[in-house]
Amino acid sequence: MSKSDELTARERMMIERQPMRLKKPDERIRDFFEVALGYDEEEAKKEAERCLNCKKPTCKEGCPVGVPIPEFIMAIRKGDLKEAARIIKSTNNLPAICGRVCPQETQCELTCILGKKKGSVAIGRLERYVADWELSQNNGAIKDTQKTGYRIAVVGSGPAGLTCAADCAKRGHTVVIFEALHVAGGVLVYGIPEFRLPKQIVRKEIEYIERLGVEIRTNYVIGKIYSLDELLKKEGFDAVFLGTGAGLPLFLRIPGENLNGVYSANEFLTRVNLMKGYLFPEWDTPVKIGRKIAVVGAGNVAMDAARCALRLGMIKSRRDNCPPPEVHIVYRRSKAEMPARAEEVENAYEEGVRFNFLVNPLEILGNDKGWVTGMRCIRMELGEPDASGRRRPVAIEGSEFAIDVDTVIVALGTRPNPIVFSNSDEPVRTKWGTVEADEETGKTSRDRVWAGGDIVTGAATVISAMGAGKRAAREIHTAFIEKQ
Ligand SMILES: Cc1cc2nc3c(=O)[nH]c(=O)nc-3n(C[C@H](O)[C@H](O)[C@H](O)COP(=O)(O)OP(=O)(O)OC[C@H]3O[C@@H](n4cnc5c(N)ncnc54)[C@H](O)[C@@H]3O)c2cc1C
Ligand code: SF4
Repeated sequence: MSKSDELTARERMMIERQPMRLKKPDERIRDFFEVALGYDEEEAKKEAERCLNCKKPTCKEGCPVGVPIPEFIMAIRKGDLKEAARIIKSTNNLPAICGRVCPQETQCELTCILGKKKGSVAIGRLERYVADWELSQNNGAIKDTQKTGYRIAVVGSGPAGLTCAADCAKRGHTVVIFEALHVAGGVLVYGIPEFRLPKQIVRKEIEYIERLGVEIRTNYVIGKIYSLDELLKKEGFDAVFLGTGAGLPLFLRIPGENLNGVYSANEFLTRVNLMKGYLFPEWDTPVKIGRKIAVVGAGNVAMDAARCALRLGMIKSRRDNCPPPEVHIVYRRSKAEMPARAEEVENAYEEGVRFNFLVNPLEILGNDKGWVTGMRCIRMELGEPDASGRRRPVAIEGSEFAIDVDTVIVALGTRPNPIVFSNSDEPVRTKWGTVEADEETGKTSRDRVWAGGDIVTGAATVISAMGAGKRAAREIHTAFIEKQ
Protein backbone atom coordinates (compact mmCIF):
# COMPACT_ATOMS: atom_id res chain seq x y z
CA MET A 1 0.00 0.00 0.00
CA SER A 2 1.47 3.38 -0.98
CA LYS A 3 1.57 6.25 1.50
CA SER A 4 -1.43 7.93 -0.19
CA ASP A 5 -3.49 4.73 0.30
CA GLU A 6 -2.92 4.84 4.07
CA LEU A 7 -6.10 5.21 6.11
CA THR A 8 -6.47 7.95 8.70
CA ALA A 9 -6.95 7.03 12.35
CA ARG A 10 -10.58 8.10 12.03
CA GLU A 11 -11.09 5.81 9.02
CA ARG A 12 -9.49 2.92 10.89
CA MET A 13 -11.84 3.46 13.78
CA MET A 14 -14.81 3.26 11.44
CA ILE A 15 -13.95 -0.35 10.52
CA GLU A 16 -16.01 -2.83 12.52
CA ARG A 17 -14.27 -5.59 14.50
CA GLN A 18 -14.31 -8.63 12.26
CA PRO A 19 -16.33 -11.53 13.69
CA MET A 20 -14.94 -15.06 13.57
CA ARG A 21 -17.00 -17.66 11.74
CA LEU A 22 -18.23 -20.54 13.94
CA LYS A 23 -19.82 -23.85 13.04
CA LYS A 24 -23.58 -23.79 13.61
CA PRO A 25 -24.63 -25.07 17.07
CA ASP A 26 -26.86 -27.89 15.79
CA GLU A 27 -24.00 -29.16 13.59
CA ARG A 28 -21.17 -28.78 16.07
CA ILE A 29 -22.80 -30.76 18.91
CA ARG A 30 -22.71 -33.88 16.73
CA ASP A 31 -18.91 -34.16 16.59
CA PHE A 32 -15.67 -32.99 18.21
CA PHE A 33 -14.35 -30.93 15.29
CA GLU A 34 -13.19 -27.38 15.94
CA VAL A 35 -16.00 -24.88 16.52
CA ALA A 36 -14.19 -21.63 15.61
CA LEU A 37 -13.13 -21.54 11.97
CA GLY A 38 -10.53 -18.72 11.98
CA TYR A 39 -10.11 -15.70 9.70
CA ASP A 40 -9.54 -15.89 5.96
CA GLU A 41 -7.04 -13.54 4.29
CA GLU A 42 -9.55 -10.77 3.64
CA GLU A 43 -10.94 -10.82 7.19
CA ALA A 44 -7.43 -10.83 8.70
CA LYS A 45 -6.27 -7.89 6.59
CA LYS A 46 -9.40 -5.92 7.40
CA GLU A 47 -8.97 -6.57 11.12
CA ALA A 48 -5.28 -5.62 10.90
CA GLU A 49 -6.31 -2.31 9.29
CA ARG A 50 -8.10 -1.39 12.53
CA CYS A 51 -4.85 -1.18 14.55
CA LEU A 52 -3.71 2.41 15.20
CA ASN A 53 -0.06 1.36 15.57
CA CYS A 54 0.04 3.41 18.76
CA LYS A 55 3.24 5.17 19.84
CA LYS A 56 2.80 3.68 23.31
CA PRO A 57 1.08 0.35 22.57
CA THR A 58 -0.87 -0.48 25.70
CA CYS A 59 -1.81 -3.89 24.26
CA LYS A 60 1.78 -5.05 24.72
CA GLU A 61 1.66 -4.39 28.46
CA GLY A 62 -1.22 -6.86 28.74
CA CYS A 63 0.74 -9.77 27.22
CA PRO A 64 2.56 -11.94 29.80
CA VAL A 65 5.07 -13.12 27.18
CA GLY A 66 5.56 -9.65 25.65
CA VAL A 67 4.57 -10.35 22.01
CA PRO A 68 5.44 -7.26 19.90
CA ILE A 69 1.77 -6.89 18.98
CA PRO A 70 1.63 -3.79 16.73
CA GLU A 71 4.73 -4.95 14.84
CA PHE A 72 3.19 -8.29 13.88
CA ILE A 73 -0.11 -6.62 12.95
CA MET A 74 1.76 -4.20 10.65
CA ALA A 75 3.41 -7.20 8.97
CA ILE A 76 -0.04 -8.72 8.30
CA ARG A 77 -1.11 -5.41 6.81
CA LYS A 78 1.84 -5.55 4.43
CA GLY A 79 0.92 -9.13 3.53
CA ASP A 80 4.25 -10.42 4.93
CA LEU A 81 3.06 -13.39 6.99
CA LYS A 82 6.53 -14.89 7.24
CA GLU A 83 7.72 -11.74 8.99
CA ALA A 84 4.57 -11.63 11.15
CA ALA A 85 5.28 -15.21 12.28
CA ARG A 86 8.92 -14.41 12.98
CA ILE A 87 7.90 -11.44 15.14
CA ILE A 88 5.40 -13.46 17.16
CA LYS A 89 7.80 -16.39 17.60
CA SER A 90 10.49 -14.05 18.90
CA THR A 91 8.70 -14.20 22.26
CA ASN A 92 5.88 -16.75 21.97
CA ASN A 93 6.76 -20.38 21.23
CA LEU A 94 3.12 -21.59 21.10
CA PRO A 95 1.16 -18.98 19.09
CA ALA A 96 -1.41 -21.27 17.42
CA ILE A 97 -2.35 -22.53 20.89
CA CYS A 98 -2.48 -19.03 22.43
CA GLY A 99 -4.48 -17.71 19.47
CA ARG A 100 -7.15 -20.26 20.36
CA VAL A 101 -7.31 -20.48 24.14
CA CYS A 102 -5.79 -17.31 25.64
CA PRO A 103 -8.31 -15.17 27.51
CA GLN A 104 -7.34 -12.16 25.37
CA GLU A 105 -10.34 -10.21 26.62
CA THR A 106 -8.68 -9.93 30.05
CA GLN A 107 -5.13 -9.41 28.73
CA CYS A 108 -3.83 -7.77 25.52
CA GLU A 109 -7.30 -6.94 24.19
CA LEU A 110 -8.38 -5.49 27.54
CA THR A 111 -5.55 -2.98 27.37
CA CYS A 112 -5.90 -2.17 23.63
CA ILE A 113 -6.63 1.52 23.24
CA LEU A 114 -9.56 0.86 20.92
CA GLY A 115 -11.30 -1.30 23.53
CA LYS A 116 -13.24 1.53 25.12
CA LYS A 117 -14.53 3.04 21.89
CA LYS A 118 -14.99 0.57 19.08
CA GLY A 119 -14.05 -2.83 20.44
CA SER A 120 -10.38 -3.81 20.78
CA VAL A 121 -8.37 -5.13 17.86
CA ALA A 122 -8.94 -8.92 17.69
CA ILE A 123 -5.30 -9.64 18.55
CA GLY A 124 -5.87 -13.30 19.42
CA ARG A 125 -7.65 -14.06 16.16
CA LEU A 126 -4.86 -12.37 14.19
CA GLU A 127 -2.25 -14.34 16.11
CA ARG A 128 -4.10 -17.55 15.30
CA TYR A 129 -4.31 -16.56 11.62
CA VAL A 130 -0.54 -16.01 11.36
CA ALA A 131 0.36 -19.11 13.39
CA ASP A 132 -1.93 -21.37 11.32
CA TRP A 133 -0.45 -19.95 8.13
CA GLU A 134 3.04 -20.74 9.40
CA LEU A 135 2.09 -24.30 10.39
CA SER A 136 0.62 -24.84 6.93
CA GLN A 137 3.94 -23.77 5.32
CA ASN A 138 6.11 -26.32 7.09
CA ASN A 139 8.95 -23.80 6.96
CA GLY A 140 10.35 -24.48 10.39
CA ALA A 141 14.05 -24.12 9.63
CA ILE A 142 15.84 -23.51 12.90
CA LYS A 143 19.28 -22.04 13.16
CA ASP A 144 21.87 -23.94 15.15
CA THR A 145 22.75 -22.44 18.52
CA GLN A 146 26.16 -22.81 20.06
CA LYS A 147 25.97 -25.20 23.00
CA THR A 148 26.84 -23.91 26.47
CA GLY A 149 27.36 -27.33 28.06
CA TYR A 150 24.74 -26.69 30.78
CA ARG A 151 21.96 -29.28 31.21
CA ILE A 152 18.47 -28.47 32.41
CA ALA A 153 15.75 -30.88 33.48
CA VAL A 154 12.21 -29.62 32.97
CA VAL A 155 9.54 -31.57 34.85
CA GLY A 156 6.16 -31.44 33.11
CA SER A 157 5.39 -30.65 29.47
CA GLY A 158 2.50 -28.19 29.86
CA PRO A 159 2.77 -24.60 28.63
CA ALA A 160 5.08 -23.62 31.53
CA GLY A 161 7.53 -26.48 30.93
CA LEU A 162 7.45 -26.19 27.13
CA THR A 163 8.15 -22.45 27.26
CA CYS A 164 10.95 -22.74 29.78
CA ALA A 165 12.48 -25.58 27.74
CA ALA A 166 12.25 -23.70 24.43
CA ASP A 167 13.75 -20.50 25.83
CA CYS A 168 16.60 -22.42 27.50
CA ALA A 169 17.30 -24.32 24.26
CA LYS A 170 17.35 -21.04 22.30
CA ARG A 171 20.09 -19.88 24.70
CA GLY A 172 22.20 -22.96 23.88
CA HIS A 173 21.49 -25.13 26.92
CA THR A 174 20.76 -28.85 26.66
CA VAL A 175 17.20 -29.50 27.82
CA VAL A 176 15.36 -32.69 28.70
CA ILE A 177 11.64 -32.58 29.52
CA PHE A 178 10.31 -35.37 31.77
CA GLU A 179 6.58 -35.95 31.34
CA ALA A 180 4.50 -38.36 33.44
CA LEU A 181 1.90 -39.06 30.75
CA HIS A 182 2.45 -40.88 27.45
CA VAL A 183 1.88 -37.67 25.45
CA ALA A 184 3.40 -34.20 25.90
CA GLY A 185 1.29 -31.05 26.29
CA GLY A 186 -0.23 -31.11 29.79
CA VAL A 187 -3.73 -29.65 30.01
CA LEU A 188 -3.47 -28.69 26.34
CA VAL A 189 -3.83 -32.38 25.48
CA TYR A 190 -5.60 -33.97 28.42
CA GLY A 191 -7.99 -31.19 29.44
CA ILE A 192 -8.95 -28.73 26.71
CA PRO A 193 -11.21 -30.52 24.22
CA GLU A 194 -10.49 -31.09 20.55
CA PHE A 195 -13.35 -28.78 19.49
CA ARG A 196 -11.57 -25.81 21.14
CA LEU A 197 -7.95 -26.84 20.54
CA PRO A 198 -7.25 -29.54 17.92
CA LYS A 199 -4.53 -31.88 19.13
CA GLN A 200 -2.81 -31.76 15.76
CA ILE A 201 -2.11 -28.06 16.42
CA VAL A 202 -0.61 -28.87 19.82
CA ARG A 203 1.48 -31.66 18.27
CA LYS A 204 2.86 -29.36 15.58
CA GLU A 205 3.81 -26.64 18.05
CA ILE A 206 5.53 -29.22 20.27
CA GLU A 207 7.41 -30.50 17.21
CA TYR A 208 8.76 -26.96 16.77
CA ILE A 209 10.08 -27.06 20.34
CA GLU A 210 11.71 -30.44 19.65
CA ARG A 211 13.32 -28.97 16.54
CA LEU A 212 14.93 -26.38 18.83
CA GLY A 213 16.79 -29.38 20.28
CA VAL A 214 14.60 -30.13 23.31
CA GLU A 215 14.35 -33.84 24.17
CA ILE A 216 11.01 -35.02 25.57
CA ARG A 217 10.89 -38.22 27.62
CA THR A 218 7.30 -39.34 28.18
CA ASN A 219 6.12 -41.88 30.81
CA TYR A 220 8.59 -40.41 33.32
CA VAL A 221 6.95 -39.75 36.67
CA ILE A 222 9.41 -37.60 38.61
CA GLY A 223 9.15 -38.43 42.28
CA LYS A 224 8.95 -42.12 41.30
CA ILE A 225 11.56 -42.79 38.59
CA TYR A 226 13.91 -40.05 39.80
CA SER A 227 13.59 -37.70 42.75
CA LEU A 228 14.56 -34.04 42.34
CA ASP A 229 17.68 -34.90 44.27
CA GLU A 230 18.61 -37.64 41.80
CA LEU A 231 18.04 -35.36 38.83
CA LEU A 232 20.50 -32.86 40.27
CA LYS A 233 23.07 -35.21 41.79
CA LYS A 234 22.93 -38.59 40.04
CA GLU A 235 21.73 -37.49 36.59
CA GLY A 236 23.96 -34.42 36.68
CA PHE A 237 21.51 -31.70 35.65
CA ASP A 238 22.66 -28.19 36.50
CA ALA A 239 19.13 -26.89 37.15
CA VAL A 240 15.57 -28.18 37.40
CA PHE A 241 12.40 -26.35 36.36
CA LEU A 242 9.20 -27.66 37.96
CA GLY A 243 6.14 -27.17 35.76
CA THR A 244 3.95 -30.01 36.97
CA GLY A 245 0.73 -28.00 37.02
CA ALA A 246 -2.29 -28.50 39.27
CA GLY A 247 -3.84 -31.77 38.20
CA LEU A 248 -5.29 -33.01 41.49
CA PRO A 249 -9.09 -32.55 41.51
CA LEU A 250 -11.08 -31.13 44.42
CA PHE A 251 -14.31 -32.85 45.42
CA LEU A 252 -17.62 -31.77 46.94
CA ARG A 253 -17.14 -33.93 50.06
CA ILE A 254 -20.84 -34.82 50.24
CA PRO A 255 -22.49 -38.23 50.69
CA GLY A 256 -22.79 -40.34 47.54
CA GLU A 257 -19.70 -38.93 45.82
CA ASN A 258 -18.23 -42.44 45.52
CA LEU A 259 -21.20 -43.78 43.51
CA ASN A 260 -20.75 -45.10 39.95
CA GLY A 261 -21.52 -42.33 37.49
CA VAL A 262 -19.66 -39.63 39.44
CA TYR A 263 -16.55 -38.29 37.71
CA SER A 264 -14.06 -35.57 38.51
CA ALA A 265 -13.90 -33.23 35.50
CA ASN A 266 -10.21 -34.17 35.22
CA GLU A 267 -10.92 -37.88 34.87
CA PHE A 268 -13.83 -37.29 32.51
CA LEU A 269 -11.94 -34.88 30.23
CA THR A 270 -8.82 -37.09 30.24
CA ARG A 271 -10.83 -40.13 29.17
CA VAL A 272 -12.64 -38.16 26.49
CA ASN A 273 -9.75 -36.08 25.13
CA LEU A 274 -6.42 -37.74 25.79
CA MET A 275 -7.72 -41.30 25.54
CA LYS A 276 -10.02 -40.41 22.63
CA GLY A 277 -13.18 -41.67 24.32
CA TYR A 278 -15.23 -39.73 21.79
CA LEU A 279 -13.91 -42.02 19.05
CA PHE A 280 -15.21 -45.22 20.69
CA PRO A 281 -15.49 -47.95 19.34
CA GLU A 282 -12.61 -47.15 16.90
CA TRP A 283 -10.61 -46.25 20.02
CA ASP A 284 -10.93 -48.72 22.84
CA THR A 285 -11.97 -46.21 25.53
CA PRO A 286 -15.68 -46.32 26.29
CA VAL A 287 -16.84 -43.41 28.47
CA LYS A 288 -20.09 -44.21 30.20
CA ILE A 289 -22.39 -41.25 29.89
CA GLY A 290 -25.97 -41.16 31.06
CA ARG A 291 -28.94 -39.32 29.63
CA LYS A 292 -29.23 -36.56 32.25
CA ILE A 293 -25.91 -35.12 33.30
CA ALA A 294 -25.16 -32.55 36.01
CA VAL A 295 -21.85 -30.66 35.90
CA VAL A 296 -21.12 -28.99 39.24
CA GLY A 297 -19.14 -25.74 38.86
CA ALA A 298 -19.06 -22.85 36.41
CA GLY A 299 -15.47 -22.27 35.31
CA ASN A 300 -13.86 -23.07 31.94
CA VAL A 301 -13.36 -26.65 33.05
CA ALA A 302 -17.09 -27.01 33.81
CA MET A 303 -17.98 -25.55 30.38
CA ASP A 304 -15.59 -27.99 28.68
CA ALA A 305 -17.00 -30.94 30.63
CA ALA A 306 -20.60 -29.94 29.86
CA ARG A 307 -19.94 -29.46 26.15
CA CYS A 308 -18.04 -32.78 25.94
CA ALA A 309 -20.88 -34.56 27.76
CA LEU A 310 -23.39 -33.05 25.35
CA ARG A 311 -21.43 -34.22 22.31
CA LEU A 312 -20.86 -37.71 23.73
CA GLY A 313 -24.59 -37.97 24.47
CA MET A 314 -25.53 -36.80 20.98
CA ILE A 315 -23.16 -39.31 19.36
CA LYS A 316 -24.61 -42.07 21.57
CA SER A 317 -28.18 -40.98 20.79
CA ARG A 318 -27.53 -41.30 17.06
CA ARG A 319 -25.61 -44.56 17.40
CA ASP A 320 -28.07 -46.31 19.74
CA ASN A 321 -31.22 -44.58 18.51
CA CYS A 322 -32.02 -43.29 22.02
CA PRO A 323 -33.24 -39.83 23.19
CA PRO A 324 -30.72 -36.93 23.16
CA PRO A 325 -28.98 -36.01 26.44
CA GLU A 326 -29.85 -33.23 28.87
CA VAL A 327 -26.81 -31.45 30.30
CA HIS A 328 -27.12 -29.16 33.34
CA ILE A 329 -24.63 -26.79 34.90
CA VAL A 330 -25.27 -26.60 38.65
CA TYR A 331 -23.72 -23.50 40.25
CA ARG A 332 -24.16 -22.14 43.76
CA ARG A 333 -23.76 -18.48 42.77
CA SER A 334 -25.43 -16.43 40.03
CA LYS A 335 -24.58 -15.88 36.36
CA ALA A 336 -22.66 -12.68 37.20
CA GLU A 337 -20.12 -14.59 39.34
CA MET A 338 -19.38 -17.36 36.82
CA PRO A 339 -15.60 -17.63 36.38
CA ALA A 340 -15.76 -19.10 32.83
CA ARG A 341 -14.89 -16.98 29.77
CA ALA A 342 -17.98 -15.19 28.44
CA GLU A 343 -17.37 -16.64 24.96
CA GLU A 344 -17.38 -20.22 26.28
CA VAL A 345 -20.56 -19.63 28.31
CA GLU A 346 -22.25 -18.24 25.21
CA ASN A 347 -21.14 -21.26 23.18
CA ALA A 348 -22.53 -23.60 25.84
CA TYR A 349 -25.88 -21.73 25.89
CA GLU A 350 -26.12 -21.86 22.10
CA GLU A 351 -25.47 -25.60 22.14
CA GLY A 352 -28.30 -26.26 24.60
CA VAL A 353 -26.50 -26.66 27.94
CA ARG A 354 -28.98 -25.69 30.72
CA PHE A 355 -27.87 -23.45 33.58
CA ASN A 356 -29.11 -23.86 37.16
CA PHE A 357 -27.91 -20.87 39.20
CA LEU A 358 -28.02 -20.47 42.99
CA VAL A 359 -28.26 -24.22 43.50
CA ASN A 360 -25.91 -26.22 45.75
CA PRO A 361 -25.67 -30.06 45.85
CA LEU A 362 -26.11 -31.65 49.30
CA GLU A 363 -26.06 -35.36 48.46
CA ILE A 364 -25.73 -37.60 45.44
CA LEU A 365 -28.42 -40.27 45.48
CA GLY A 366 -27.93 -43.84 44.26
CA ASN A 367 -29.68 -47.19 43.78
CA ASP A 368 -28.86 -50.53 45.43
CA LYS A 369 -26.45 -51.37 42.60
CA GLY A 370 -24.37 -48.30 43.47
CA TRP A 371 -25.29 -46.10 40.47
CA VAL A 372 -26.29 -42.45 40.57
CA THR A 373 -30.05 -41.83 40.39
CA GLY A 374 -30.32 -38.18 41.44
CA MET A 375 -28.92 -35.28 43.40
CA ARG A 376 -30.41 -33.61 46.45
CA CYS A 377 -29.83 -29.84 46.29
CA ILE A 378 -30.68 -26.65 48.13
CA ARG A 379 -31.42 -23.20 46.72
CA MET A 380 -29.08 -20.33 47.60
CA GLU A 381 -29.18 -16.56 47.78
CA LEU A 382 -26.29 -14.11 47.63
CA GLY A 383 -25.02 -12.48 50.82
CA GLU A 384 -22.10 -10.15 51.46
CA PRO A 385 -18.87 -10.43 49.38
CA ASP A 386 -16.36 -13.04 50.63
CA ALA A 387 -12.53 -13.12 50.45
CA SER A 388 -12.69 -13.69 46.68
CA GLY A 389 -14.68 -10.43 46.29
CA ARG A 390 -17.71 -12.34 45.00
CA ARG A 391 -20.99 -12.31 46.89
CA ARG A 392 -21.15 -15.30 49.21
CA PRO A 393 -23.90 -17.85 48.55
CA VAL A 394 -26.11 -18.56 51.57
CA ALA A 395 -28.50 -21.52 51.76
CA ILE A 396 -32.23 -20.76 51.86
CA GLU A 397 -33.67 -22.80 54.68
CA GLY A 398 -36.35 -25.31 53.69
CA SER A 399 -35.66 -25.00 49.95
CA GLU A 400 -34.28 -28.51 49.41
CA PHE A 401 -35.26 -30.38 46.28
CA ALA A 402 -34.03 -33.34 44.23
CA ILE A 403 -33.05 -33.45 40.59
CA ASP A 404 -33.18 -36.54 38.51
CA VAL A 405 -29.67 -37.22 37.08
CA ASP A 406 -27.69 -40.35 36.24
CA THR A 407 -24.24 -38.78 35.83
CA VAL A 408 -22.48 -36.13 37.94
CA ILE A 409 -19.26 -34.41 36.85
CA VAL A 410 -17.49 -32.42 39.58
CA ALA A 411 -15.61 -29.37 38.25
CA LEU A 412 -14.71 -27.43 41.39
CA GLY A 413 -11.02 -26.74 40.78
CA THR A 414 -7.68 -28.46 41.27
CA ARG A 415 -4.51 -28.44 43.35
CA PRO A 416 -0.92 -29.47 42.54
CA ASN A 417 -0.25 -33.19 42.59
CA PRO A 418 2.37 -33.82 45.34
CA ILE A 419 3.78 -36.95 43.65
CA VAL A 420 6.80 -35.01 42.36
CA PHE A 421 7.97 -34.46 45.94
CA SER A 422 9.46 -37.65 47.27
CA ASN A 423 12.18 -36.49 49.66
CA SER A 424 12.38 -34.22 52.64
CA ASP A 425 14.75 -31.76 50.96
CA GLU A 426 12.06 -30.26 48.73
CA PRO A 427 10.99 -26.70 47.93
CA VAL A 428 8.77 -25.05 50.53
CA ARG A 429 5.06 -25.33 49.77
CA THR A 430 1.98 -23.41 50.89
CA LYS A 431 -0.99 -24.86 52.78
CA TRP A 432 -2.74 -25.27 49.40
CA GLY A 433 0.08 -27.51 48.16
CA THR A 434 1.47 -24.92 45.73
CA VAL A 435 5.21 -24.32 45.60
CA GLU A 436 6.53 -21.06 47.02
CA ALA A 437 8.53 -19.39 44.25
CA ASP A 438 9.62 -15.82 43.61
CA GLU A 439 7.08 -14.21 41.29
CA GLU A 440 9.71 -12.50 39.16
CA THR A 441 12.36 -15.22 39.00
CA GLY A 442 10.58 -18.52 39.73
CA LYS A 443 13.34 -19.36 42.25
CA THR A 444 12.24 -21.81 44.95
CA SER A 445 13.70 -22.37 48.41
CA ARG A 446 15.76 -25.27 47.06
CA ASP A 447 19.10 -24.54 45.44
CA ARG A 448 19.08 -24.92 41.61
CA VAL A 449 15.31 -25.53 41.49
CA TRP A 450 12.92 -23.12 39.77
CA ALA A 451 9.15 -23.48 39.39
CA GLY A 452 6.32 -21.83 37.48
CA GLY A 453 2.79 -22.19 36.14
CA ASP A 454 -0.13 -23.78 37.97
CA ILE A 455 2.16 -25.54 40.47
CA VAL A 456 2.95 -22.08 41.86
CA THR A 457 -0.24 -20.11 41.24
CA GLY A 458 -2.84 -22.88 41.43
CA ALA A 459 -5.13 -23.33 38.42
CA ALA A 460 -4.64 -20.25 36.18
CA THR A 461 -4.13 -19.71 32.44
CA VAL A 462 -1.97 -21.00 29.60
CA ILE A 463 -0.35 -17.64 28.99
CA SER A 464 0.42 -16.96 32.67
CA ALA A 465 2.10 -20.40 32.83
CA MET A 466 4.08 -19.50 29.71
CA GLY A 467 5.08 -16.15 31.22
CA ALA A 468 6.40 -17.97 34.31
CA GLY A 469 8.33 -20.46 32.14
CA LYS A 470 9.89 -17.57 30.24
CA ARG A 471 10.97 -15.68 33.36
CA ALA A 472 12.47 -18.83 34.88
CA ALA A 473 14.44 -19.57 31.67
CA ARG A 474 15.91 -16.07 31.80
CA GLU A 475 16.85 -16.48 35.46
CA ILE A 476 18.38 -19.94 35.00
CA HIS A 477 20.49 -18.55 32.18
CA THR A 478 21.58 -15.58 34.30
CA ALA A 479 22.53 -17.94 37.14
CA PHE A 480 24.80 -19.87 34.75
CA ILE A 481 26.41 -16.68 33.49
CA GLU A 482 27.05 -15.54 37.04
CA LYS A 483 28.79 -18.86 37.75
CA GLN A 484 31.34 -18.27 34.97
C1 LIG B 1 -10.34 -28.34 31.11
C2 LIG B 1 -9.47 -27.13 31.19
C3 LIG B 1 -9.70 -26.07 30.34
C4 LIG B 1 -8.90 -24.94 30.39
N1 LIG B 1 -9.13 -23.93 29.52
C5 LIG B 1 -8.27 -22.88 29.47
C6 LIG B 1 -8.42 -21.86 28.48
O1 LIG B 1 -9.32 -21.88 27.67
N2 LIG B 1 -7.52 -20.85 28.48
C7 LIG B 1 -6.48 -20.79 29.37
O2 LIG B 1 -5.67 -19.87 29.28
N3 LIG B 1 -6.33 -21.73 30.33
C8 LIG B 1 -7.20 -22.77 30.39
N4 LIG B 1 -7.04 -23.74 31.35
C9 LIG B 1 -5.93 -23.60 32.33
C10 LIG B 1 -4.58 -23.92 31.69
O3 LIG B 1 -4.69 -25.02 30.84
C11 LIG B 1 -3.53 -24.15 32.77
O4 LIG B 1 -3.46 -22.99 33.56
C12 LIG B 1 -2.15 -24.44 32.16
O5 LIG B 1 -2.19 -25.58 31.34
C13 LIG B 1 -1.10 -24.62 33.25
O6 LIG B 1 0.10 -24.97 32.64
P1 LIG B 1 1.24 -25.76 33.41
O7 LIG B 1 2.35 -25.94 32.44
O8 LIG B 1 1.53 -25.06 34.71
O9 LIG B 1 0.60 -27.16 33.82
P2 LIG B 1 -0.13 -28.33 33.01
O10 LIG B 1 -0.69 -27.89 31.73
O11 LIG B 1 -1.04 -28.94 34.01
O12 LIG B 1 1.05 -29.35 32.70
C14 LIG B 1 1.71 -30.04 33.74
C15 LIG B 1 2.32 -31.30 33.19
O13 LIG B 1 3.15 -31.88 34.18
C16 LIG B 1 2.97 -33.28 34.17
N5 LIG B 1 3.36 -33.81 35.49
C17 LIG B 1 2.67 -33.69 36.66
N6 LIG B 1 3.35 -34.30 37.64
C18 LIG B 1 4.47 -34.83 37.07
C19 LIG B 1 5.55 -35.60 37.57
N7 LIG B 1 5.62 -35.95 38.86
N8 LIG B 1 6.52 -35.98 36.71
C20 LIG B 1 6.46 -35.63 35.39
N9 LIG B 1 5.46 -34.91 34.87
C21 LIG B 1 4.48 -34.51 35.71
C22 LIG B 1 1.49 -33.45 33.87
O14 LIG B 1 1.23 -34.76 33.37
C23 LIG B 1 1.28 -32.36 32.83
O15 LIG B 1 1.53 -32.84 31.53
C24 LIG B 1 -7.85 -24.87 31.34
C25 LIG B 1 -7.63 -25.92 32.24
C26 LIG B 1 -8.42 -27.04 32.17
C27 LIG B 1 -8.17 -28.18 33.13
S1 SF4 C 1 -3.24 -0.79 21.66
FE1 SF4 C 1 -4.67 -1.67 20.09
S2 SF4 C 1 -4.64 -0.11 18.51
FE2 SF4 C 1 -2.86 0.34 19.75
S3 SF4 C 1 -1.14 -0.82 18.83
FE3 SF4 C 1 -2.06 -2.19 20.32
S4 SF4 C 1 -3.57 -3.40 19.14
FE4 SF4 C 1 -3.06 -1.60 17.88
